[in-house]
Amino acid sequence: MLGLMQDWPLTVDKIIDHAKNWHGHREVVTRSVEGPIVRTSYAEIHARAKRVTSVLKDWDVKVGDRIATLAWNTGRHMEVWYGIMGMGAVCHTLNPRLFPEQLVYIINHAEDKIIFVDLTFIPLLEAVLPHCPSVERVVVLTDELTMPATKLPGAECYEALLAGVSGDVAWGGFDEQTACGLCYTSGTTGNPKGVLYSHRSNFIHTLLGMQATVLGASPSDVILPVVPMFHANAWGIAFAGPAGGTKLVMPGARMDGAAIYELIESEGVTFSAAVPTVWQGLLTHLRENNLKIPTVKKVLIGGSAVPESLIRAFHDEFDIEVLQGWGMTETSPIGTLSNMTPELSALPYDEQMKWRVKQGTPPLGVELKLKNYAGQEMPHDGHTYGRLMIKGPTIAGAYFKGEGGDILDHEGFFDTGDVSTIDEQGFMQITDRAKDVIKSGGEWISSIEIENISVGHPKVELAAVIGAAHPKWDERPVLVIKLKPDQVQDKQEHLDFLQGKIAKWWMPDDVVFVDEIPLGATGKIDKKLVRERMKDYRLP
Ligand code: ADP
Repeated sequence: MLGLMQDWPLTVDKIIDHAKNWHGHREVVTRSVEGPIVRTSYAEIHARAKRVTSVLKDWDVKVGDRIATLAWNTGRHMEVWYGIMGMGAVCHTLNPRLFPEQLVYIINHAEDKIIFVDLTFIPLLEAVLPHCPSVERVVVLTDELTMPATKLPGAECYEALLAGVSGDVAWGGFDEQTACGLCYTSGTTGNPKGVLYSHRSNFIHTLLGMQATVLGASPSDVILPVVPMFHANAWGIAFAGPAGGTKLVMPGARMDGAAIYELIESEGVTFSAAVPTVWQGLLTHLRENNLKIPTVKKVLIGGSAVPESLIRAFHDEFDIEVLQGWGMTETSPIGTLSNMTPELSALPYDEQMKWRVKQGTPPLGVELKLKNYAGQEMPHDGHTYGRLMIKGPTIAGAYFKGEGGDILDHEGFFDTGDVSTIDEQGFMQITDRAKDVIKSGGEWISSIEIENISVGHPKVELAAVIGAAHPKWDERPVLVIKLKPDQVQDKQEHLDFLQGKIAKWWMPDDVVFVDEIPLGATGKIDKKLVRERMKDYRLP
């Protein structure tokens, strides 16, 4: 027997409708790409998103067409995002930090018809566009006063377009399974693959994100999503903000410590989300200028493992709780969060650290399991490694255009490519990406764990551990270090620092100091490139 409740398709236009109806005056504040701080509201974003839809309809855009954005986190980007999605077209967020060849690849693969571009990225798009035959139009996200001369053929000015239409259009009316967003994995472990979100998956992800253990956004919060909308949907904040009636503060093109501090201070930010490297930058700025950020209660850090030193710095120096998140583009992206349980919170702070550095437990809507290479399930004992498998309504079931073939196991779980443990408390800990794990004498060494301890040294800015070929052990770990400016350190000093903090047989066989460790398109260390640069390296 079926239930008798109403059929209310879960489409994301309802999220911005809700924000307009019940939190219409709530602000979205942007550091605009042109420079000044710009203030708008959910009511205004809603009205202007409707105009975006009008423009698209005038251009004969249909349900399912891919419309791309090459843009920072701004109020305008939100208007375009909802304008595209509301009419059933697919918003493809392009990551401007990809190499131009990768951008060409994904624009062609997605067959994007129109690209909305921020002023900053015009030179990049000028280089890329001649190789992208599917793109019919380009819209520059600015007004007529600041509209630049550009080589982009037929480039149109966003504000001029919006001024010329009424915005009298309807949204929705399509199946909730209709495609809604497209985001390519940044390819740190292979070619970019497209993750095609549906309205239903994004709507459910928004509800999942509203759990108190996740973003729990409410009208009393002020959220600063530093994590870009092109990096796994700003971890859901561009949906959760309007859904929760929460003021959003959008950083635009500037994510340096000084710029982020200024926004936190002037807008009273209570919660923010970013990758570890952004937080390191903010901490340096705060320390150098002897500043505090008392309005901030909690920060969400994810995208790569969060070092203990970062968790302690926020706690000890700024009285801020760090919530570590794990997820991937393929998981919309929320997967797990490091919320302390009452039992763990009752422990002395130092003892809690064992769990705080872990990636934590899943919210309702996410299922996890560990599997070995033979496909057997592994125990949740805190030390048995397995491949992390994930299932749920917000997890990819296939890549766009079938790339990568069948990606689910026989029980419908997606293989994350991450190697992890799950302990008796249910806390998951990533020990490595399957491709980065160092296989030494048949055992696995976690590169992440050594890196996290290494960056805890006050002289170290970035650390990456890679495997070097070894005649007896197959592979041995080599630690690549970038020191902070004006610091000197020798190999032995660093090995002494690691002594007693990691197992003896994990001790790196060598330490190599470099001037630069490359970061990938989402601000994480690009291991593939580190390995490439070290390809001629031989163990001493
Ligand atoms: P990319 O493949 O470009 O890095 P994603 O942003 O989707 O794209 O990255 C997802 C991966 O990032 C995860 O599979 C995992 O390896 C890593 N990751 C994300 N969050 C964490 C975290 N808190 N700790 C360790 N690794 C993480």
